[in-house]
Amino acid sequence: SVMTVSHGSESEAIIARPDHCISRKDISPNALRVLYRLREAGYQAYIVGGAVRDLLIGGHPKDFDVATNATPEQVRANFRNCRLIGRRFRLAHIMYGSEIIEVATFRAAGEDDTQGDRKTHEEGHLLRDNIYGSLEEDAVRRDFTVNALYYTVEDFSVRDFVGGYQDVQDRVLRLIGDPETRYREDPVRMLRAIRLSAKLGFSIHPTAAEPIPLMASLLSSSSSARLFDEILKIFLAGSAEKSFLQLEQYELLDVLFADTAKALQTNRSGALRAMLLQAMHNTDQRIVADKSVAPGFLFACLLWPAYCRELAVLQNSGCELSVAQQRATDRVTMRQIERIAIPRRFSMPMHEIWQLQTRFQQRTRKRVFKLLAHPRFRAAFDFLELRAFGAPELLEELDFWRQAQMLSPEKLAEIIPQHSKNSEGESAHQPVKRKRRRSNPKPLLAE
Ligand code: ATP
Ligand code: MG
Repeated sequence: SVMTVSHGSESEAIIARPDHCISRKDISPNALRVLYRLREAGYQAYIVGGAVRDLLIGGHPKDFDVATNATPEQVRANFRNCRLIGRRFRLAHIMYGSEIIEVATFRAAGEDDTQGDRKTHEEGHLLRDNIYGSLEEDAVRRDFTVNALYYTVEDFSVRDFVGGYQDVQDRVLRLIGDPETRYREDPVRMLRAIRLSAKLGFSIHPTAAEPIPLMASLLSSSSSARLFDEILKIFLAGSAEKSFLQLEQYELLDVLFADTAKALQTNRSGALRAMLLQAMHNTDQRIVADKSVAPGFLFACLLWPAYCRELAVLQNSGCELSVAQQRATDRVTMRQIERIAIPRRFSMPMHEIWQLQTRFQQRTRKRVFKLLAHPRFRAAFDFLELRAFGAPELLEELDFWRQAQMLSPEKLAEIIPQHSKNSEGESAHQPVKRKRRRSNPKPLLAE
C-alpha cells in the first residue's frame, strides 16, 4: 500500500517494505552502517539518488550516497573515519578502505559546489546554515524524479515527494519542476538526461526531451572542466554508441564538438561517421569486458573528423603535410579545449595517435621497425583499424601492419625490401621532403 502524507506544498508517498523490492542484502554494509550510526545518534538518514533508483530496477549501484539532517560537523563527530570536503557546500566522506560513503546534509535549491557555474550569491547574504533545508526541499532540488527517492532503515520504506517511484516503474526520466527553468539553472542536466537514458534504458519524458535542441547552446556557459568530467562519464558508462547518437539527435554534438559535428555533416562518403560509431561500439565492448578505455584514445576518435577536415583545408591551400598536420592538431585542440577542458595528459597521446597515422604509409625496413617499437604503436594501430571500418582502401595497409606485429624480426625483414615502394608507387621516404602538391596521394579524409 502506498500511503500519502500531506506536507505543506508537497505530498509524500511512503512505499512500505512489502511494496518495493529493495532488500538490505543488496545495500553496501558500510552504507547501512552509516544509516544505523546516524540514527542511533538521533538524526534522520537516508540512502538517496542513483543508488535507490538502481536498486529499484534490480541493478547494482556503483556507490551509495546518504542524505541526513545532521550537519557535516555533527556527522564528523560520529565517525572516526570521516573527512569533510568542499568549501561552500561541505560534504562528509566516510572512508571504509577503498569504499567512500558520501554523506550530504539536506539542502534547498541554490548554492551547490558541484555545479561549478552557478552565479555566486551577493556578498554575505548567504550564511552557511541557510543553505541547509528540509527533506522535502532536498528532494525537489534534485534533477529527475527517479533520482529523488529516499530509502530509510527506520521502517525500510522508500519516501517519494515527486512521483519518482511510478516513473521508475515506467522507466522514464522526468525533470522535477519546469523543464526550461531546470535546464537554464544548470544546462548540464541536458547531458545527464542523455547519459542516464542511454545507461539505464529509460526514455526521456517529452516535456524533458523537447526543450533540449532549443536550449543546447546554453551548454557553452557551463564550465569546461565540468563538461570534460561529464563527457567522460557519458562515454565510459558502457553505452557510448547510444549516447553519441542521442547527442547528435538532440543537437548537443554541435555545441560540444562543433568541428566534429560539421565534419560529419560534410563528409559525403560517411567514412568518418562509420569510424566514429565503430569506435563507440568498441568502447562499449571494452567496458562490458571490464577492460580499460584510455581517454586519450577516446578523444582521438571524437576529434578525428575535425582533424581530418582541418588537415584537408590546409593541404588544399598548399600546406606541406607535416606542417599541415601540426597546424591542424593545434587548431582543433585549441578550439576544443575552450568548450571541453581536455587535460594535457590526454591530449598528448591523442596528438601522437594522429601523427602516427601517416607513418603507416612508410614501409621501408628501417621505418617499419622504428614504428613497431614506438611506445604508442599499439594505440595507433587500433586507431588505424577503426579508420578502416569506414575506408576499405586502408585494409591492405592494416593487413600489412597486423602481419608485421606477428612475424619475427628476421621474417619481417625478409618480406620488406630495403627500399620498398608503397602501393601508390612512390618512395616511402617522401613525406619528409615532398614537394608541394594540390592533393595528397592518400588523403586521410575520404570524401
Ligand atoms: P550514477 O549512477 O551515474 O552515479 P547518479 O544519479 O547517482 O547517477 P550522480 O552524479 O552520482 O548521479 O548524482 C547523485 C545525485 O545527485 C543524483 O541522483 C541527483 O539526485 C543529484 N544530482 C546530481 N547532479 C545534479 C544536477 N545537475 N542537478 C540536480 N541534482 C543533481
Ligand atoms: Mg551516483
